[in-house]
Amino acid sequence: MAKLVDEFTLSFTVTSNGIISTSFVNCAQYAMRDRPTGHCRLCLQNRLLCDSHLMPRATYGLLRSPNRTNPNPVHITNGKDRVISSRQIKDYLLCEECERRFHSNGEDYVMANCYRGKNKFKLREALLRHIPMTSKLGISVYKAADIPEMDVTRLIYFAASIFWRASAHHWRIKNQIINISLGPYREELRRFLLGGAFPDTACLSFRVSKLEGFLLTIRTPASITEQGFHRHSFLMLGLEFLLFAGKLMPQGYRLSSAMPGGLVLMSERADDAMLQELGRAAGSPITSRL
Ligand SMILES: [Zn+2]
Repeated sequence: MAKLVDEFTLSFTVTSNGIISTSFVNCAQYAMRDRPTGHCRLCLQNRLLCDSHLMPRATYGLLRSPNRTNPNPVHITNGKDRVISSRQIKDYLLCEECERRFHSNGEDYVMANCYRGKNKFKLREALLRHIPMTSKLGISVYKAADIPEMDVTRLIYFAASIFWRASAHHWRIKNQIINISLGPYREELRRFLLGGAFPDTACLSFRVSKLEGFLLTIRTPASITEQGFHRHSFLMLGLEFLLFAGKLMPQGYRLSSAMPGGLVLMSERADDAMLQELGRAAGSPITSRL
């Protein structure tokens, strides 16, 4: 069994506002001798590997619910299966440099601004302070560039990193295997995460929940095949991320996207669908909105 030691890698991030933030990367939490050396899946260099997570490690503390009979986090996997477990979805995948890259380019920002408990949801609060560009049929569309708190570059990087991680490895939790097939987009996203261009025939959208509660959940990446394109999505702590990929993807998806469209969505209809999904996963319907 690996021996825990108190070693952390401290990374510094200069935000878009010029503020220096710090974060600890847990790569070195296991004694050096217990970590394998191998090819980092992102940079492809032969290096000492970290025990990398599919979803951010910081989500697990937030997802525990002491008031439930089983307080452990609820994962919805493969779009339908419920797994309640204290286990974290992780494996040796990335080197320390690539772990730091993921933290500073997206994960630290997302974890600071996602739903963190009642009245602690900065991205929702930021959107509600602004007037949407359009709003109809329960869907509000915001221009990210008009909202200073919205660091769309980091949101996009974070989403791309999770979709890529889900495609680059077969992750396991209990009897579930989590993996999505991105075809050629896997390599294109890997290059994007190292500073390359975003794929021409894909777009990323994200939605901020308008709800004040029922948000302590994770739906791990899953895919749906549409006519001529693929839709991949995951949901965590009040944020839903969608990746549409394929040459026959409808133009409307690009126009309403965060990348390349620069837009952010808030949708009561999608919130209602999420509540139904959570109700099914919990084994009982959730009938009221908060
Ligand atoms: Zn690496």
